Amino acid sequence: MASVDQVANSERIATGDGVLFNPRTYDGAGLDPESRRIMLATIEFFESRGKATLKEHDHERRWYSDFLEFVAREHVFATLLTPTAEAGGDSDKRWDTSRICAFNEITAFYGLPYWYTWQVSILGLGPIWQSGNAAAKQRAAKLLDEGSIFAFGLSEQQHGADIYSTDMVLTTEGDGFRASGAKYYIGNGNLAGMVSVFGRRADVDGPEGYVFFAADSQHPAYNLIKNTVNSQSYVSNFELEDYPVRAEDVLHTGPAAFDAALNTVNVGKFNLGFASIGICEHALYEAITHADARVLYGMRVTDFPHVRQAFTDAYARLVAMKLFADRSIDYMRSANPDDRRYLLFNPVTKMKVTTEGERTIDLIWDVIAAKGFEKDMYFEMAARDIRALPKLEGTVHVNMALVLKFMAAYLFDPAEYDAVPTRDDAADDEFLFRQGPARGLSKIRFHDWHDAYAAFAHVPNVARFTEQAEGLKTLLSTTPPSEDQIRDLDFMLTLGELFTLVVYGQLILEQAALAELPQDTIDQIFDVLVRDYSAYAVSLHGRASSTDAQQEWALAHVRKPVVDGDRFASVWERVRALAGSYQMRP
Ligand SMILES: Cc1cc2nc3c(=O)[nH]c(=O)nc-3n(C[C@H](O)[C@H](O)[C@H](O)COP(=O)(O)OP(=O)(O)OC[C@H]3O[C@@H](n4cnc5c(N)ncnc54)[C@H](O)[C@@H]3O)c2cc1C
Repeated sequence: MASVDQVANSERIATGDGVLFNPRTYDGAGLDPESRRIMLATIEFFESRGKATLKEHDHERRWYSDFLEFVAREHVFATLLTPTAEAGGDSDKRWDTSRICAFNEITAFYGLPYWYTWQVSILGLGPIWQSGNAAAKQRAAKLLDEGSIFAFGLSEQQHGADIYSTDMVLTTEGDGFRASGAKYYIGNGNLAGMVSVFGRRADVDGPEGYVFFAADSQHPAYNLIKNTVNSQSYVSNFELEDYPVRAEDVLHTGPAAFDAALNTVNVGKFNLGFASIGICEHALYEAITHADARVLYGMRVTDFPHVRQAFTDAYARLVAMKLFADRSIDYMRSANPDDRRYLLFNPVTKMKVTTEGERTIDLIWDVIAAKGFEKDMYFEMAARDIRALPKLEGTVHVNMALVLKFMAAYLFDPAEYDAVPTRDDAADDEFLFRQGPARGLSKIRFHDWHDAYAAFAHVPNVARFTEQAEGLKTLLSTTPPSEDQIRDLDFMLTLGELFTLVVYGQLILEQAALAELPQDTIDQIFDVLVRDYSAYAVSLHGRASSTDAQQEWALAHVRKPVVDGDRFASVWERVRALAGSYQMRP
């Protein structure tokens, strides 16, 4: 009979160093009873409904009413998305980013559309929970209890990221307004109980004229035009025609409306990284199970050296995504007016984790090849949906432009902070709804990134990567970007990739220490990061505007990772052990 230690060890292996989500072994450890019940009930909803139904609904692009009935019956959104202040004394309700992220991962593990209806409900609730309008907040809490979904009406067809140019126009009427204009790409716009809509007053120019208001998607003056996408999700185009906005529908006016838009996106975009992780986890289980059982030319596919390399890289990338994202939860939850470090870690979770998700899927798709197209595979959905996450809620470019604002303070001007512990406690993250104006970003200070790296200086590839990271300081102090280069986002995006890697590595190491990750996995992750840094350095070398000195710097910072066959073999065995460790019920 196996000892408890052996069982624990084999479970650790089957869930990939204990950090990957596996529905078979997931027990919601660390969650309070109600949160655990919700997570386990959600897993059971999908598993008992089965894979054939999951795929059939995807192919038929069927609206997920059965999922939403489950959500309503089990009070899932009501429990997870009602802040304590609006909970009417229900002690299970709170806005707890830790359990919100667990739910992100689980829903995306089974399909991005299920995650999306929850995600846009989060966005729709953002301007409401930030509002001083008590009646609107009570209405939202009641609708959540009744199982309603919500929507966030910011985007317009003509204006993309340029929200200053909104054509949703409000004219004054009594103590309210009449609103006319169209919105485009608005998820849940077909059924949302409250649609938070951003517009501007016809009679007030500039930021003072902005208004956020709540519309009812079932009102006669709310004209649902079409679904803009070919999906189970309803990403609506709707038009308001003289829609009556009563005083009790107004959520924010003036610059506060604009801040509410940005701060809502801050809360919401964080979720995209966790959705990416959930997609990659399910895809990895399917892919390794298929490849390990397949025999070509008398040998297993997983015996090809390039296949082992691809899977080990995919695994290292996925574990890194998870470590970074888990650690950034701690900074999101510990944020306050004096500690706004989350404003860097959040866009990195959004942008970097989701693009790493694409790379993970690409690596394993090259291995499973034709199998990835088959209609009864989850992978077919993963290969399509993983592409969405870097592009939504601010493109990679927009988020990278934001990340660059923090570079100087982060690299050169560290500050002292108390250590931030793991934040899986049952607290309400009320600060997220009073973030205030997103100003003074370049003044935000960070704890010294060197500390995380120094703690792992004995790991060969961490040491090698640290040399490269130090090199970034050399670049910026000896041959910094010129004024012209600073205006050239093509050049700055590549510099931003190098900087992002340093931030990424820091939080990966902080979480690796907290999670007691085996050293060989850490070394393998940094083997990947050393190669990535080298590739971005070469990319900087090739940018149109790079100077001779910058080119010289770039080539001098290309490094080969420290190669260690034993380490690679031990990580690979852990990856291979995932084969057969999870298959969705038929
Ligand atoms: C499936 C789906 C669901 C969606 N759901 C919603 C929703 O529920 N609610 C909602 O309001 N919106 C929603 N959106 C809209 C989504 O958030 C936008 O698509 C996204 O913000 C990017 O806008 P865009 O695609 O129009 O790109 P554009 O804004 O047209 O950008 C064009 C290019 O310019 C670059 N660019 C633009 N601004 C900058 C900048 N400041 N710095 C650097 N580069 C820049 C971009 O990176 C991009 O390469 C959804 C979209 C889709 C496809």
